[in-house]
Amino acid sequence: MIRCGIGYDVHRLAEGRKLILGVSHAIADALLGAIGAGDIGQHFPNTDESIRGISSIQILKQVSKLLAENKARVLNVDATIIAEEPKLVPHIAAMRKIIADAIGILDSNVGVKATTNEKLGAIGRGEGIAAMAVATVEVGRDRRARRKRSGQLGGLSLPR
Ligand SMILES: [Zn+2]
Repeated sequence: MIRCGIGYDVHRLAEGRKLILGVSHAIADALLGAIGAGDIGQHFPNTDESIRGISSIQILKQVSKLLAENKARVLNVDATIIAEEPKLVPHIAAMRKIIADAIGILDSNVGVKATTNEKLGAIGRGEGIAAMAVATVEVGRDRRARRKRSGQLGGLSLPR
């Protein structure tokens, strides 16, 4: 079964804060949403001292592990970062690679796009950066298992 999830996150702009933070959080929420497993606030509460300062990439890795445990395979994620500045284009390829590695998929299956808020509102004034993401996952038996099963039935399988 194919399932989708959506995520949104916003962070105040702060010196030295990593650009990848918001987009990773939005993707983690989208992944959790796709398997109906709540949100990152539930899984990584900011009141839990043991995970204080946990990196957003670590969160992505742990969420991916949870998906795997639930037999969910990530097909793709797509994210948009909304920021007035800095210019994100030079960083996009690196962000895609880091996110893809954390989730365990090809970076060609990770979309990261950037747009501005046309100077409107708090984001437009450069007070923060927002990110939204969608994730598509396949839940249930993976393809290899299906192929194997059809093989056991004498190779009968419907054309795809
Ligand atoms: Zn966040």
